[in-house]
Amino acid sequence: MRFLCFAIATFLALTTRSSVRAQAPCDEFFYLVQQWGPTFCKHDRQTCRQAPVSSHFTLHGLWPNYDKGHCPGKKGAWPQNCDDSSTDLPPECDCPFDASILSDLSSDMLENWPSYGQTNTDFWKHEWDKHGSCAITYEKASGGSVTTEHEYFAKALELRDQCNVLESLAAAGITRGGKAPASDFIAAIKQGCGVSPQLACHYGSSDAEEIRICYDDAFEAIDCQQAKQVEDCRGSIISLPAWQKSSSAPIADQ
Ligand code: 5GP
Repeated sequence: MRFLCFAIATFLALTTRSSVRAQAPCDEFFYLVQQWGPTFCKHDRQTCRQAPVSSHFTLHGLWPNYDKGHCPGKKGAWPQNCDDSSTDLPPECDCPFDASILSDLSSDMLENWPSYGQTNTDFWKHEWDKHGSCAITYEKASGGSVTTEHEYFAKALELRDQCNVLESLAAAGITRGGKAPASDFIAAIKQGCGVSPQLACHYGSSDAEEIRICYDDAFEAIDCQQAKQVEDCRGSIISLPAWQKSSSAPIADQ
């Protein structure tokens, strides 16, 4: 009898959950991408806008991704540009970027999501058009909670607060200007944040540029796939560059 009650309760719990959260199509997880400004600026000095470069990891974006690679019937290897009126395909969301609705997030965005390559607003628009438009398209289709531009940016900022990348690396002895095996970077984040991330270097160099934390479709942190834990890195010893722009003031947005 007790077993029967348990079985019925389990069945009800499962069916209730699946009625709230529709079957995920192919976009099954997210990368929260945090970048190390000194690496971007060391390699892209001409376009480096921020001076001084932030001394912590800052957001690059929150990217939906296909769990199993390419999704049949979809363009690209991962979902992107879901409001793209420049293609023949119908846009999946009608969601042009609107900076004005982010005004309550602006101090957090300026501090934690600066652009090193263009104006902040252009960077945020790029991230929204390319990745955010698809994140909310997927979230709407699967009954998720992040269905507006404001919710998308707020979620990225909230997730960033859950894990201090720089402190986690420092606790493992990896500090600005230091070097370590790629596996030590991964292990340091696993230790500090609870999950194994993806470490990405600047285009085939040995300079760490991004730490990407993986999240499932309920935005619970998960281990990134082991085979993809190191991307675009050359050699097994990876640096965390100390590069610093010499002039002192950030370049203002126009
Ligand atoms: P992604 O397409 O990888 O999401 O974003 C990269 C694009 O954003 C590139 O076109 C790059 O020039 C631009 N960008 C502007 N600011 C930044 C920045 O601070 N970091 C990076 N990685 N790309 C930036």
